[in-house]
Amino acid sequence: MIALGVTGAGMLAAEDLTREQLNKMLEETATNPVKSELLPGACCYSPMPYPNRIEYLCPLCKTKTLHEKWEKTGRVQTADKYRNQMKRIRELGLDATLDETDLCSQCRRDKTTEGITFHILVTVDQRLVRTQLEYCDLEKVIAFLEKKDVWDSGAGGTHPLKDALPRIRKILGMGGDEATGKK
Ligand SMILES: [Zn+2]
Repeated sequence: MIALGVTGAGMLAAEDLTREQLNKMLEETATNPVKSELLPGACCYSPMPYPNRIEYLCPLCKTKTLHEKWEKTGRVQTADKYRNQMKRIRELGLDATLDETDLCSQCRRDKTTEGITFHILVTVDQRLVRTQLEYCDLEKVIAFLEKKDVWDSGAGGTHPLKDALPRIRKILGMGGDEATGKK
């Protein structure tokens, strides 16, 4: 079950954040008062027009996949942003990897679907959790790892990080509901 064909996941480096450390950080985020001023704004929309078609080069197998629907080309374009955010997340000590295999016609796990989704793979204490990315997930995780009290949606709005804790816990595999090892 560990063999997901993604390098980096599952390797325990000495400096990776442990479950104990993350638990403490979750606790602090939940209990510390929000001191930062909250700025209003919309969440993560992009004013950029999407291209009609875009060619995706798979970093794993080097296969090129042509995506032609606007809802897909827009997602392909976000790969770069996600990769940069993942770099930051790893710098901050979380053993995490972006799974973008869905964008590749060869690497895609489920070849029957037409959709495109990204996943984040997080390993804490050698336990790997794979979560389908939703908008602003990485913004929330970065703010959490930077020990901020708010997260920035990127469109001018900030939100209390406290409110994002259930989502962050799920991504870390520390939501409580995974204690049985299921989901
Ligand atoms: Zn591929």
